[in-house]
Amino acid sequence: MTQITRMSTLYAPTLKEVPTEAALASHRLLLRAGFIRKSATGLYSYLPLGWRVIRKIEQIVREEMDAIGAQEMMMPILQPAELWHESNRWDDYGPELMRMDDRHGAGLCLGPTHEELIADLVRNELKSYKQLPTTLYQMQSKFRDEIRPRFGLMRSREFIMKDAYSFNVDEESLHESYAQMSKAYGRICDRLGLRWRAVDADSGQIGGSTTCEYHALADAGEAELVSCSCGFASNTEVAECIPHPTSQGETELRRIETPGVATIADLAAFVGVPESSTVKALVGKDAEGTPVAVFIPGDHELGEIKIERAVPGFEFMTDEEMEDAGLPKGSIGPVGLPEGVRILADRSLEVIDGWLVGANEHGFHYAGALRGRDFEVDEFADLCTAKAGDACPECGNALEVNRGIEVGQVFELGDKYSRTMGATFLGKDGKEHYFQMGCYGVGISRCMAAVVEQHNDEYGIQWPASVAPAHVCVLPLVVGDDAVQPVAERIAAQLADLGVEVVIDDRKERPGVKFAEADLMGWPLQLIVGKRGVADEEIEVKNRQSGEKTTVSFSAFREALTFASKAKSRLTAFLDSIGNVAVPSAR
Ligand code: ATP
Ligand code: MG
Repeated sequence: MTQITRMSTLYAPTLKEVPTEAALASHRLLLRAGFIRKSATGLYSYLPLGWRVIRKIEQIVREEMDAIGAQEMMMPILQPAELWHESNRWDDYGPELMRMDDRHGAGLCLGPTHEELIADLVRNELKSYKQLPTTLYQMQSKFRDEIRPRFGLMRSREFIMKDAYSFNVDEESLHESYAQMSKAYGRICDRLGLRWRAVDADSGQIGGSTTCEYHALADAGEAELVSCSCGFASNTEVAECIPHPTSQGETELRRIETPGVATIADLAAFVGVPESSTVKALVGKDAEGTPVAVFIPGDHELGEIKIERAVPGFEFMTDEEMEDAGLPKGSIGPVGLPEGVRILADRSLEVIDGWLVGANEHGFHYAGALRGRDFEVDEFADLCTAKAGDACPECGNALEVNRGIEVGQVFELGDKYSRTMGATFLGKDGKEHYFQMGCYGVGISRCMAAVVEQHNDEYGIQWPASVAPAHVCVLPLVVGDDAVQPVAERIAAQLADLGVEVVIDDRKERPGVKFAEADLMGWPLQLIVGKRGVADEEIEVKNRQSGEKTTVSFSAFREALTFASKAKSRLTAFLDSIGNVAVPSAR
């Protein structure tokens, strides 16, 4: 039997107005429906309903972790600086790491992730190959001093993460743990009711090589993903980009006066060619301060991660720096660049003869600039961000672009941390070996926002039954009425007996208010008990997701209860039979 939740005493303060900064549906609705409240930038309280959803998400994640043999534990949030010095991340992690000193002056940080802490833990405890593989996980608040905390729970400074770490004897065993974990992540996304995609990704701060991100598809997502019907899918940050620059056709070097041409769009329009026939220049410097001119097809953008890989420490030059280096902004080209400027170009430009590009003089461009004759390129590399219509690197078909919210990521770390931190075990051969490690994160609190982002309409949230704060809301339309109230209470009690989580709106509010708030809070099923219905021995049933309303007689309702009470999964049976509510792939 479950507890009945009473709206008359529930702490779920709803809002009519929300701050204008709440730009996303998930942020707005979680505030409006009284699920979360902001305490400061990037810091949120979960009110009772929000906390229930968090616990449901955690439970789904827990079940899937336990099902693959991972063991739940808990590590301290506060971590000693020494461990981060050992891995060199005290310096490498940058200002996102929240640091402090204790009263003795010892450095500490609030954990943004736990590779160091767990590597330290096991290096003294997991001693033999016989104990491997072992996977440990925890669910806990993490801290990152994000440069731009925003969108409510989506990018906050304190957030809840599930982080798991596997310890393996060799690469093969690591691949197995990684594959199992990847499958579990797919099941988690399914059970959260998410439309999702797993994509190739960058390993960023954490390090390692093989990695995959799990994204909930949503227009509001901060990430951009490319995918193809052949199965290829990648974060655009790292997707191999195959642009199709088009030759402008000219091969004689021709200097063109281009007054007022400041952008690629201007240039293309001025010359009367598509943007893909122009060559865009970007100017920066490498870690040593050497100027680098980067050329890419005019219809593409430079990829941040890709340029960092090609030119470590790359930074764009400021206008003054460009001026000082004799580089006229808006008119940069490879022909006649000042001495000492390194020239880098996107691979796709290797086959283009006759570049339409800046002439290194304000108000002038060149057409027909030919590599080998008019200029040289020091290095070609994959530099652009892939976009819709570019060729799929696996099959050549046109790529599709979607936006996504990263809800999880899995990594094969290899021995990156075990080596720097000296974490070894005794192998079968009697020798010490470094652990092969994997790490696997799910953003629990971000998941809540992602679910709302995918499941809402103009009236409010439409929770999938698997994570809803309660399954059914019983709405007695006239509270205190001798006929209505007892029927509603009885229904709620019967549902609670069955194990269905039920809310009863026992407030003395107008029906309109109750309907609006039930829709806003997003209970999957509403059972409406009115005076006339009771007289006719029937209730109204509303499926929040589909909006479908049906009238169910008392006897049919009793039958559904009896049927469900005998079913293996009572909840699923009841929701399905009475309101056509699906529970996303219940375990
Ligand atoms: P992002 O690229 O969005 O900053 P990340 O790649 O740095 O995230 P990971 O280190 O992979 O994050 O952390 C695991 C998971 O924790 C992420 O997949 C995401 O769901 C969640 N997460 C990370 N940063 C935040 C944050 N600031 N607020 C809420 N959730 C977060
Ligand atoms: Mg990530």
